[in-house]
Amino acid sequence: MKTVLISGASIAGPTLAYWLSEFGFAPTVVERAPAPRDGGYKIDIRGVALDVVERMGLLPKVRALSTDMKAAHFVDAHGKVLATMDAELFGGREDADVEIMRGDLGRLLHEATADRVEYVFGDSITSLTETDDGVLVTFERGPSRVFDLVVGADGLHSNVRGLAFGDEGRFVRDLGHHISIFTVPNHLNLDRTEMCRAVPGGTALMYATARAADARAMFLFASEGPARDRNDVEGQKTTVAERFADLGWEVPRLLDAMADAPDFYYDSLSQIHMDTWSSGRVTLVGDAAYCASPASGQGTSLSLVGAYVLAGELAAAAGDHTAAFVAYERELRPFVTANQDLAEGNLKGMVMKSGLQIRFQMFMLRLLPHLPGSSAMARRITEKIHKAATSVSLKSY
Ligand SMILES: Cc1cc2nc3c(=O)[nH]c(=O)nc-3n(C[C@H](O)[C@H](O)[C@H](O)COP(=O)(O)OP(=O)(O)OC[C@H]3O[C@@H](n4cnc5c(N)ncnc54)[C@H](O)[C@@H]3O)c2cc1C
Repeated sequence: MKTVLISGASIAGPTLAYWLSEFGFAPTVVERAPAPRDGGYKIDIRGVALDVVERMGLLPKVRALSTDMKAAHFVDAHGKVLATMDAELFGGREDADVEIMRGDLGRLLHEATADRVEYVFGDSITSLTETDDGVLVTFERGPSRVFDLVVGADGLHSNVRGLAFGDEGRFVRDLGHHISIFTVPNHLNLDRTEMCRAVPGGTALMYATARAADARAMFLFASEGPARDRNDVEGQKTTVAERFADLGWEVPRLLDAMADAPDFYYDSLSQIHMDTWSSGRVTLVGDAAYCASPASGQGTSLSLVGAYVLAGELAAAAGDHTAAFVAYERELRPFVTANQDLAEGNLKGMVMKSGLQIRFQMFMLRLLPHLPGSSAMARRITEKIHKAATSVSLKSY
């Protein structure tokens, strides 16, 4: 039985652990956070990724935890509704696609694996040394151990990628925008509704999902270069406050709530592009290997499908990890490329450049329901995403 250490217990890590244990491997997952991470933001499961979740027997539970969003309203500085969109169209989803909170999906994946996978919370890998027998791994807290293989499923700023491949700057493609999201009180009593205030170069959003007692505020804005020092949280909050100070509507209240937000998140919108995802006995999966950015809307689906394919190819190669890693890349790379390619186009609709573009967009959204063939037109909007989301066929391993 091969032992596999997976760094990261969010989406890709537990999914990989599930499938590896199905195929007779012995996975261990090490997660930096002290416990499974709750909360987060809305994420999507689309296309082929739905098949992965279904094969895990989790689809009914995932559907039961859907955000069940109803509508998105665009408002002006005084809160007047300028246009309304159906939530599915706003999120670029087709009929079967599901939107769920990241924490809910993470919890389902953890529950599905907790009895058959070793989880180590509150620790992190500090070094990886390849030996004849495997990889010698040292940890911040726990004792050193040897594993046959090590997989980085530890996100955009992957620790394993840094240890095995070097500085992240070589792999990052900056999409020229920054994003911030955090929990706020639902002072508008929103019910499965999204409110959106768009100005040239920036978009402020507030939404509340099904079953949630509170709401999320999200700020997305054009900004070149990497985000501020990740430890400078006060500096990041100042950046958001300065960029959105004059937006009117409920924005001042959302910015006030930012000070006490328990889960403030800030980062640049970036993708990870690597020539290869594997080095010796170490490989990467999910955002660590091929982050598509929140703008693609496909990061979660890439993580689910990538984890399934990696586990499957390791099983199919019967012990030859080098062959398995080659097959993993061959199977997955066109799918990754198709989904990463969505991000820049999507961003143009998420953060509009000029007042003229915003007025035109609002006009078209008001007109859309009254046009003949409006549902076919709406489908064309989601078609691109659907095509990318279904652009790989899942093998049965
Ligand atoms: C604001 C925002 C909005 C998004 N919206 C969408 C969306 O609408 N649709 C969509 O599909 N996707 C969306 N995404 C992207 C989606 O969340 C990611 O693509 C997905 O979570 C990737 O999963 P992952 O498991 O690869 O990595 P992550 O979810 O990033 O998880 C990495 C895990 O590794 C852990 N970790 C980090 N460092 C270490 C370490 N040193 N040691 C051990 N563990 C470590 C982290 O704590 C975390 O649990 C969004 C992302 C953000 C930030």
